Amino acid sequence: MIVVLKKEASKAKEEQLIEWLKGMGLGIHISVGEYQTVLGLIGDTSKVDMDLIGSLDIVDSVKRVTDTFKCVNRQFHPDDTVVKVGDVKIGGGNFAMIAGPCSVESESQIVEVAKAVKEAGANLLRGGAFKPRTSPYDFQGLKAEGLELLKIARKETGLPIVTEIMSVSDLPLFEDVDVLQVGARNMQNFDLLKELGATGKPILLKRGLANTLKELLMSAEYIMASGNEQVILCERGIRTYSDYMRNTLDLSAVPMLHELSHLPVIVDPSHATGIARMVPPMALSAAACGADGLIIEVHNDPIHALCDGAQSLRPEEYAELVVKVNAVREAIK
Ligand code: PEP
Ligand code: MN
Repeated sequence: MIVVLKKEASKAKEEQLIEWLKGMGLGIHISVGEYQTVLGLIGDTSKVDMDLIGSLDIVDSVKRVTDTFKCVNRQFHPDDTVVKVGDVKIGGGNFAMIAGPCSVESESQIVEVAKAVKEAGANLLRGGAFKPRTSPYDFQGLKAEGLELLKIARKETGLPIVTEIMSVSDLPLFEDVDVLQVGARNMQNFDLLKELGATGKPILLKRGLANTLKELLMSAEYIMASGNEQVILCERGIRTYSDYMRNTLDLSAVPMLHELSHLPVIVDPSHATGIARMVPPMALSAAACGADGLIIEVHNDPIHALCDGAQSLRPEEYAELVVKVNAVREAIK
């Protein structure tokens, strides 16, 4: 249920109402927008008298929210959420250009790529240290050492770092990481989501390989219900009948997620296609349909990459793409 307060509602009466609702055992999500304050009621609202609340002089309207996702719901929070990572903002008109290699391989590799993508216009650095690989015999990432190398690259460039966490037990290692990524394979690792909710850190939540938008939103709800509002959703392609592509990029997810939720939505055209030459057209399409950012794999030597070389752009290709992405964003303003 949401309660929209009148613009001129007094603070004292607003607090009285909130206390009364809390007294009924409800959680209250307060969204203070430019034009209105919305109270989102979480919990069993079946016994809440809508007419009584609607009759209060500080209340503009009362509405039942039938969706199972509440905190992430646009109705609970009409304005776009802006996620803040240091000085970088994502959402509400602010665009994230996240770039870097699939995996951190060495200090020289990550620092070289970080400098190149920064020069090209990226504002966040990606790089996997803990890698979820289909085969246990493939490179599993440099793990804790990889996180240290990312921090060196951050120090060299000033770019905040984005990296994947696979297990709750690794959480202490991620204390100094700027954005924690939940990979597609962990989208429904509910224990992990709850722990990430408790960190209060920005979380990049990727859509699972075969998950619906509702399931993605329910996973984001786990993080938000645990107290963390800093969530970025990511469409990274889903399993379909596509034979020539690694996945199918579901771009219609972007405007639909924007309609359903206030959270920023970014797109990963690298994992969606698995082919470097497919990345620029899909990245431009994502920008055109209103994405709040792009996460793109860039490697200084794709042929020898330890992971996902075939879908990685070279730094110069990335630099060319950034110019075009900016032009598309300008065109749709
Ligand atoms: C990644 O971004 O490195 C990754 C493994 O992506 P996904 O979880 O989308 O497969
Ligand atoms: Mn990858």
